[in-house]
Amino acid sequence: MNNTGFYKKGGISVETAHIFPVIKKWLYSEKDIFLREIVSNACDAVTKLRRLSSLGQYDGGEESYRVDVTLDPAARTLTVSDNGIGMTAEELDRYICQIALSGALEFVEKYEGDNQNNGIIGHFGLGFYSSFMVSDRVELITRSYTGTDALHWVCNADGEYETEAGQRDAHGTTVIMHISEEEADYLKKDKIEEILEKYCAFMPVEIYFEAVGEESESDDGKEAPAPVPVNDTTPLWQKNPSDCTPEEYKEFYRKVFHDYREPLFWIHVNADYPLNFKGILYFPKLTNEYESIEGQVKLYYNQVFVADNIKEVIPEYLLMLKGVLDCPELPLNVSRSYLQNNTYVSKVSAHIVKKVADKLNSLCNTARDEYEKVWNDIRTFVEYACMRDRKFYDRVKDSLLLELTDGSYITSRDYLEKAKEKHENTIYYASDKAAQAQYISMFEAESIPVAVFEKQLDTQFLSIMESFTPEVKYVRIDADVASLLKAEGEDTSNEALSNLFVKVSGNEKLKVEFAFLKDAGVPLLLTISEQSRRMEEMLKMYAMSGMNMGDAFPKEETLTVNTANALISKLESMESEKQEKAAAYLYRLAVLSQRKLSAEELQGFLKDSYSILDLI
Ligand code: ADP
Repeated sequence: MNNTGFYKKGGISVETAHIFPVIKKWLYSEKDIFLREIVSNACDAVTKLRRLSSLGQYDGGEESYRVDVTLDPAARTLTVSDNGIGMTAEELDRYICQIALSGALEFVEKYEGDNQNNGIIGHFGLGFYSSFMVSDRVELITRSYTGTDALHWVCNADGEYETEAGQRDAHGTTVIMHISEEEADYLKKDKIEEILEKYCAFMPVEIYFEAVGEESESDDGKEAPAPVPVNDTTPLWQKNPSDCTPEEYKEFYRKVFHDYREPLFWIHVNADYPLNFKGILYFPKLTNEYESIEGQVKLYYNQVFVADNIKEVIPEYLLMLKGVLDCPELPLNVSRSYLQNNTYVSKVSAHIVKKVADKLNSLCNTARDEYEKVWNDIRTFVEYACMRDRKFYDRVKDSLLLELTDGSYITSRDYLEKAKEKHENTIYYASDKAAQAQYISMFEAESIPVAVFEKQLDTQFLSIMESFTPEVKYVRIDADVASLLKAEGEDTSNEALSNLFVKVSGNEKLKVEFAFLKDAGVPLLLTISEQSRRMEEMLKMYAMSGMNMGDAFPKEETLTVNTANALISKLESMESEKQEKAAAYLYRLAVLSQRKLSAEELQGFLKDSYSILDLI
């Protein structure tokens, strides 16, 4: 120290002249992070002092450590103050003037050309100098815990700084940011509260926020309530899972995701060395199928919020979960492409996938009732995840449930086990319970369970399942099923009748078969081969996307004439004009029990119905 109390005057070097303008316009949409950087530095300073104290190298007595964020709109300042380790003159020079600056410089150099802000995860690394994104002057008043004199450092937006003797009674550091004209938003209380909630909600030191000049609540004579910290210093994910109650998990979920619906269940990950990460992942409750299934997985770095939904850390198909992950080993100051090829990151991701699969399996095996209750809510998640990742499918394949038409559930494995004798390796399903009701009742009569696959995703899911396990076939109940519903007995074909049905159907390729069905009440059964129907569905999808495939693949329809049915016997002996009318009508009824009629078909059907009523 010299007599004037002036320690050091520094200024723009070639490099620093370059950094300030860049910092100013840097990360336009993510300027908010400056406060995270400054507050997390303050928390670090406290953590360091706590550590020294626990090592017996510092005796702070009953000191209560805290960080104070103070907004003074009138003075246009935002101040962050801590009672942490503080800095000596040498440390200030080294950490702020040299290291922090060179860190920020390196960062800017590395990412300046990186389009906007997509390059860097969480924009970590700008550190202390990120305060210049919003300030045109920053002051730092610091005093080391070692008891050296306080220092006052000031730096302007051109990078010129001065250090002189400062005023500070206790150890710690105060950073005063003079908010620039253009960034006046950061002088609003709501804005600061919002940033603190987003980035600082779980930092490990108590943080208090005050906006000076606000109406004081003690004006009415009552004592002001004791201030409460804006953060939770011991978030639930840091606790041992066996010490956490379901109520705590639900409460945490409500608080973090502002979701009033209870989560279905959750997974508390607590991975030790070498992975060393923690987190809680929730399966959220969705109100309906069409609700966005985009979840929210928040990534933290030692309790400091980094970013939402980083798909390098958690597979994209699990991003529909909601939760928090704290990865202190994560190299954050790197680009996305770096993360994609990082083995630590891929191990974390694989571990999460395994934990999710384990949870599903344990629910299925040990809490089957609960699992069945939530199955319809998680089904889309699980099926989608299986489709995206064969490994995930392999892990959970025995916990995939089929919902049956009677509302009960069964695993695919148990279904196939039961079906062994009657219809080996075939799972029958309905895609529309109402439209296919007649087929369903015929299956029920045969005691063949029918699974329900009514969702849009299901068609794709089934074909992917078939590619995973080619020996198992999924067959819709109006597909190649007639043989299944046949009774023992002679099938007597009738060529004239066969030709007549081809004629009235208007489909030259219609295959007509005669069979003695067990259900005598059904005269005709129309079936469409599973393969040709799927082809048609696919073509429809292409047509929707603008591709016209024409009638390249006509659907292979089969009409099974039930010789056990009384109407069919009657039809055989009718005179020709009447016979044709009756055959056309019966055919339409068969179509009707298989699918919705087209407008044209419906009109024809109504017309026929009226003329039949006329006969009564
Ligand atoms: P980082 O925090 O990533 O190291 P910063 O640029 O934010 O980089 O800070 C550089 C250094 O300045 C810190 O490592 C720390 O040594 C020192 N420092 C910054 N803020 C404080 C503070 N509030 N109290 C004590 N030291 C600080």
